[in-house]
Amino acid sequence: MRQFFANRGLNHAEHPGRFSGSTTLACLTLLLGCVIFSPPVFAAEELVLPLRLHLTRGLSLTVKDTKMEVWVKPEDVKNVLLPEVNRIWKQADIRFSIESVIEETVPASPALDKFLADVAAFKRNNEEKGAGSPFPLAMKAVDDSKFLPSAINVYFFPYVGETLQGVSSLGGNRLMVGVWSDKSSGGRKPPQKTLLTEPEPMVIGSLARTMAHELGHSLTLQHPSKQDEPKGRLMGGGKQGYLLTPAEITQARNSAEEHLQGGKKKRAKN
Ligand SMILES: [Zn+2]
Repeated sequence: MRQFFANRGLNHAEHPGRFSGSTTLACLTLLLGCVIFSPPVFAAEELVLPLRLHLTRGLSLTVKDTKMEVWVKPEDVKNVLLPEVNRIWKQADIRFSIESVIEETVPASPALDKFLADVAAFKRNNEEKGAGSPFPLAMKAVDDSKFLPSAINVYFFPYVGETLQGVSSLGGNRLMVGVWSDKSSGGRKPPQKTLLTEPEPMVIGSLARTMAHELGHSLTLQHPSKQDEPKGRLMGGGKQGYLLTPAEITQARNSAEEHLQGGKKKRAKN
């Protein structure tokens, strides 16, 4: 069974610095030693993964008297969101390219009606994975003829559920994000338009960071536990941020290679 991973805020406690002067000196000495004695290190090959971005149109839903629609424009995606997603993923030498940005309507269907009703009623205490996720209904509702199997397909919806910002399937090539969110108030206040980007350090999080996080799930990364070190991770944990660990980078790059090989096979078939 596929697992669905939802991105929601954990906490934003600041993490104090932990390094003493002598540790810093030891690190510097080590670093200098490496620079002088190591053979040249070659940068990892950049992996470029195509994205098809679906801006849903004509959907609206109201939560706490706030009417929400997808307000993101194609130029926001091209000029603001993708550059920030790529800034975040540069640490893994993974870049996402835009195959296309499509503005599309979601055809009327029972799945769409149920999706809209479910996300309006979704409560943060529901199961985070699997049961209760609005993701399968959303993917059932969208126009499949506009889905591109050889790309990762990112769907923008008005809202995806209380304190949820995005949902993805592990290792899959579909994910969805909400452009309105009530995460910063823990669902107590009406949803607000998300920030497109936010300067570091993360305070409330941005739509670009949510996309980067969900793409991490598409590349098979899971949430660390709250106790895991280091903190400040893109994939969550005790304090959310932007960092990918070396192990996560290796795992994500392996998955990116598989996405690319899978994409080639699908292109060959079509
Ligand atoms: Zn997540």
